[in-house]
Amino acid sequence: MSIEFSDEFDFENRIVDTSEIPEDNSETENPLRPKTLEDYIGQETVKENLRIFIDAAKQRGETLDHVLLYGPPGLGKTTLSAIIANELGVSVRITSGPAIEKPGDLASLLTNLNQGDVLFIDEIHRLSRAVEEILYPSMEDFAIDIITGKGQMAASYHLPLPKFTLVGATTRAGQLTAPLRDRFGVVLRLELYTTEELAQIVERSAGILKIDIEHEGAVEIASRSRGTPRIANRLLKRVRDFAQVMSNGVITKETANHALERLGIDKLGLDQNDRRMLEAIVKFYNGGPVGLETLAAAIGEEAITIEDVYEPYLLQIGFLTRTPRGRCITIEACRHLGVDFPGSKTNQQQSLFDN
Ligand code: ADP
Repeated sequence: MSIEFSDEFDFENRIVDTSEIPEDNSETENPLRPKTLEDYIGQETVKENLRIFIDAAKQRGETLDHVLLYGPPGLGKTTLSAIIANELGVSVRITSGPAIEKPGDLASLLTNLNQGDVLFIDEIHRLSRAVEEILYPSMEDFAIDIITGKGQMAASYHLPLPKFTLVGATTRAGQLTAPLRDRFGVVLRLELYTTEELAQIVERSAGILKIDIEHEGAVEIASRSRGTPRIANRLLKRVRDFAQVMSNGVITKETANHALERLGIDKLGLDQNDRRMLEAIVKFYNGGPVGLETLAAAIGEEAITIEDVYEPYLLQIGFLTRTPRGRCITIEACRHLGVDFPGSKTNQQQSLFDN
């Protein structure tokens, strides 16, 4: 079954999309990235652990063990990899799984590193098998074996590499092959941020971008940012435009409220895409359970986008539950949407179970 959506239904340019969109890459983005652990707001457990591992490595004069960061997009994994390098006093090379197409691409990246450098591979679960095969020995023995030529002309070279720290990022640790996961000494999970933490991030970014903002205004933006700093920064920039016209450039609670309503983002940070998805579960699947693939086909989205971008926040605020048989909507979600809870037996049991 597929659902027809009107023209205003814009999957491509979702302002609350947690993944990177072109406007995030503007020149205003880089200064917003914290450079030290101290400036990095929230993720206290991750920071405490990293602080210890970094200090210990520095004291021993050794390279830091390989680090795996996992969590939904936009929570600060790339930022953290640059911070790790900065705290260690080394350089960082940033790349991603899909960008490393051939083993030779990885070999040239690795041989160009300096002793102790950080290599950040985003979406590391998307490395090809052939590339993964040469990543293992380079992580373990800091060497790679390269075979050139064919048949009688074939020659094998053992290439020593500088000792380096691999920082891998993935949206879910479960997507990684077991041999790759096992080669990370430090595995850290990033959590969605609280509203207070996001308000601090918004105020920090506003300071850097020289935007006047009242605390209440920052809280209003924070509470609609789906626990994600990338969205908080994006909303701040959009609300600034409204503030310029409406309130002499100062972001107040009222301006933020008005701007976000106009942008179609409700009090909880849901946009029309979330609402349509939730409504589809109610209307077409009697509140669920509905399988991920079926739901993805129904709303014309990719299953992986639903899992990585839509779901983490909807699960966190208790609007969706995941059962072995699929996704179910909750009473709270129906209340928020202003629709009747379908009240199927499974749903009622599920909701009772969740509360
Ligand atoms: P990821 O790599 O997890 O997708 P990024 O590291 O690209 O996320 O972070 C997205 C944006 O959010 C960055 O530009 C950064 O400015 C901001 N950000 C992320 N985490 C924090 C934090 N803890 N404190 C302040 N800003 C943050």
